[in-house]
Amino acid sequence: MKIICVGLNYASHAEEIGMTREKDPVVFMKPDTALLRGNMPFFIPDWAGQFDYEAELVLRISRLGRHVETRFAHRYYDAIGLGIDFTARDLQAKLAAAGQPWEICKSFDYSAAISDFIPVSEFPDVSNIDFSLSLNGELRQHGNSADMINSFDEIVAYVSRFFSLRIGDLIFTGTPPGVGPVKIGDNIVGKIGERTMLDLRVK
Ligand code: MG
Repeated sequence: MKIICVGLNYASHAEEIGMTREKDPVVFMKPDTALLRGNMPFFIPDWAGQFDYEAELVLRISRLGRHVETRFAHRYYDAIGLGIDFTARDLQAKLAAAGQPWEICKSFDYSAAISDFIPVSEFPDVSNIDFSLSLNGELRQHGNSADMINSFDEIVAYVSRFFSLRIGDLIFTGTPPGVGPVKIGDNIVGKIGERTMLDLRVK
């Protein structure tokens, strides 16, 4: 399986990290070795100075797809979960300044925390999903899928132009404002609506 991620999909987050984007989604990938499941702790690597959390809604792909049209894209994912796109922010800035790819700052081992999934059928409206991230009990990020620059369906359509979608692939759909660094001992809780999806320690 693969993990496809969309960056800068909430205008106010792009602003806070000083990046701009064109209309097309910013896309990068993480390998399956990036997965961090079951609320296992996130161990801070020693090769960069600042690791940020980024809470994101995550689509689970449920059928094979290539060149999917936006109007049919909703048929290609059957569940939504909450993920954290852990990012070595200081290294990202260096790579971006040098015009280099993001992989090492974004796609390292255990950089993609992922919750269990909620079937799409349980959401009254996927274009109005509230989610949040709290750090040590303090609310840091609050987002709603209504605020995405590219909708779930636009993202699925766009990425399927370049990458065949397979059952079990995951798509991280971007983070709202409020990202920030983690430190050893932190507790991260992520929710979709009122439902706790992630509850993990930083070590
Ligand atoms: Mg992200």
